[in-house]
Amino acid sequence: MKKHDSEKKAIIELLKSSGEDLDRLYREADETRRKYVGDEVYLRGIVEFSNICRNDCLYCGIRKSNRKIVRYLMTPEEILDVAKMMVDTPLNTIVLQSGERPGPQDRILGETIKAIKEHTNLTITLSAGNRDYDTYKYLRDCGMDRYLLRFETSNPLLFETFHKGSTLKERLMCIEHLKNLGVQTGSGFMIGLPGETYETLAENILLCKELDLDMIGIGPFIPHGDTPLKDIGNAYDDKEIFFKALSVLRIFNKEAHIPATTSYDAVFKGQGRKLALKRGANIYMPNITPTKYRKEYQLYPGKPHITDNGEESIKYAISTIGSINRPIGQGPGDSIKKRRKTCQL
Ligand code: SF4
Repeated sequence: MKKHDSEKKAIIELLKSSGEDLDRLYREADETRRKYVGDEVYLRGIVEFSNICRNDCLYCGIRKSNRKIVRYLMTPEEILDVAKMMVDTPLNTIVLQSGERPGPQDRILGETIKAIKEHTNLTITLSAGNRDYDTYKYLRDCGMDRYLLRFETSNPLLFETFHKGSTLKERLMCIEHLKNLGVQTGSGFMIGLPGETYETLAENILLCKELDLDMIGIGPFIPHGDTPLKDIGNAYDDKEIFFKALSVLRIFNKEAHIPATTSYDAVFKGQGRKLALKRGANIYMPNITPTKYRKEYQLYPGKPHITDNGEESIKYAISTIGSINRPIGQGPGDSIKKRRKTCQL
């Protein structure tokens, strides 16, 4: 308990850094990233295969109550076509992301995973919300390698406020299921949900550490115009907090894969992901969703590259990484934890 409290205090101090202290924080995060996960930036292609969701998370642009978007579900053939397109690119991981919709659709998803494995050498990450143990096990047995499920906030009351009808406990249980199944597991949180404090943010970072995650994705809360939070701003006035959180996250989660998430570019136009890579991140996830679906999958406003196609998004990613003189990672880019386990076998 004492260690937790002293770490929390140290984190809050770092989150409040300014001037030379802030420069030092960014430098330390970058050095930690280099030392523990290397200079390579791994590319993961995101396919937003469906915006159908049973949930009504208050901040989300595709929440079920938003009637302004056209709902879609990509067919298995469409998903497989995108996967096949990736074969001749430096992207070795496909990330299949959707709203949360448990049920018969999971069988089709499982069959799609099997088909991708049959036709390509891609590593498959899924990000489709809460499921029970047996469903995660089924998907893993079909070939799913990794799963992303952000807890969003470590504060149980805030969690229930923004995710009506769901609890933090349930979300953390799902994360435990995934870990127990040997699936490389990612989680993470939003920065600046209304009501959040520096203390919450520090707890978020510490929860990531406690969960011992393979991957950690974080990003700013950006109010969406078609949600009940449209008139409520970020909890922090200072946008630099988004990078401070990322850097502290790296220092406290040395070996995790940390993506430079697209939401950074929504806040810092054209510079966000690049800066994130210089301040602790080591993963880049170009959007390779077919262009016709992209505008219907905006969890937050200001998402870039809505009119691009997959090739353009990949080209942009490669040039961004080249512009900061970092090499593109080769191979699947498994987490350090997974690579260590494989070496012990
Ligand atoms: S955040 Fe995810 S679970 Fe919540 S409404 Fe949006 S897509 Fe659905």
